[in-house]
Amino acid sequence: MDDVTLDMRAEKWSKIVMSEKYKGSCLCGGVTFSVNSFSDQAANCHCTMCRKFHGASFATLVGVSSLNWLSGKALLKHYNAPNGTVRTFCNDCGTSLGFRVKGASLEEIELAIATFDDDIPVKVDAQIYTNYKANWCQLQSSLPSFGEGRETGYTL
Ligand SMILES: [Zn+2]
Ligand SMILES: [Zn+2]
Repeated sequence: MDDVTLDMRAEKWSKIVMSEKYKGSCLCGGVTFSVNSFSDQAANCHCTMCRKFHGASFATLVGVSSLNWLSGKALLKHYNAPNGTVRTFCNDCGTSLGFRVKGASLEEIELAIATFDDDIPVKVDAQIYTNYKANWCQLQSSLPSFGEGRETGYTL
């Protein structure tokens, strides 16, 4: 085997390792996935749809790159909301996995940050749609807050 072939093999191997850098899963473990990296921005979203879909005071979704469904792709169920956005969850355990804007492919999904198994290099940098937050939920004073989406400007 010549050096070029060895180099190519090494490069291919490093790509395989890289593509499984950060792993996540649903509650039952049926759905597992890996991603390579994350978008710069991640916001706690207090909109009514996120609250209901995640059954929580807010949802934190993050864009990812090189998403790879490792198992359970057949378990993924998709809810199409009236506004055209799509929410994806595990059909067995109900774990809320992600969000897509209208027309986006499954690979373009923004994942629920809470489904990652270990620490990930993401810093939540905003809280959005705070006009819709629950009265019993306290905003974080250390984070910029937007009444609607990020583009609407600061409200705190
Ligand atoms: Zn599950
Ligand atoms: Zn939301």
